[in-house]
Amino acid sequence: MKLLVPIKRVVDFTVKVRVKPDGSGVDLENVKMSMNPFDEIAVEEAIRLKERGLANEIIVVSLGPAACQETLRTALAMGADRAVLVETDAELEPLAVAKLLKQIVAKEEPQLVILGKQAIDDDSNQTGQMLAALLDWPQGTFASKLEIAEGKATVTREIDGGLETLELPLPAVITTDLRLNEPRYTSLPNIIKAKKRPLDTLKISDLQTDIAPRSKTQKVGAPQPRKAGIRVNSVEELVTKLREEAKVI
Ligand code: AMP
Repeated sequence: MKLLVPIKRVVDFTVKVRVKPDGSGVDLENVKMSMNPFDEIAVEEAIRLKERGLANEIIVVSLGPAACQETLRTALAMGADRAVLVETDAELEPLAVAKLLKQIVAKEEPQLVILGKQAIDDDSNQTGQMLAALLDWPQGTFASKLEIAEGKATVTREIDGGLETLELPLPAVITTDLRLNEPRYTSLPNIIKAKKRPLDTLKISDLQTDIAPRSKTQKVGAPQPRKAGIRVNSVEELVTKLREEAKVI
């Protein structure tokens, strides 16, 4: 079984982002970039399936600038077999990403695509769902457990009321939730070995896809700074303040 894992290069989750003074976006100059954390979970899950003998090839794919090669190398060092970079400097919305991934799926013919549930830069939570719709494949989103047997994927999903279990015939699209697994660290020997693994680059024009954005960002702004809190000395004082100053009771 072939697995395809789309991974996005995003601002590292530890970075406190700064908004550009003209409000046109987030300042990415000299900012640490990393693999989207949910995509690391997707790569880890794919490797575990391969280690259990349920898959024989893991292909990671990233859509973005040339620097995404670094992110793909990280996935190869974790244990992916092969990488594909669809190189573009264009801003890609989830629909454009899903359409491009559909083309990669047609070329690679994986039985399972495992994506992150969301990218932590745009927090869209759309690409996996859109890809499943475009492919007309079943989808198991927000997976916290995944089992594969007899041509079916059994996905446990975290929903408001508890856990839901779905059985999907393959091929299928899965998106990962935080509790699915804990991704492994890459060791130095694996980082060195990963340099020899194949990494193909495609130009976006090779894929003949309409990637024009459907929405326009009006303005990006930093959240209002919060006022400092105060310490009260008694429950009575707290109730008075909530009633008279905050006017919430
Ligand atoms: P989103 O819908 O933007 O929140 O992204 C959900 C998931 O789609 C991510 O966790 C990735 O697995 C995948 N994805 C989104 N954008 C890209 C990209 N530029 N390259 C590769 N995978 C992506």
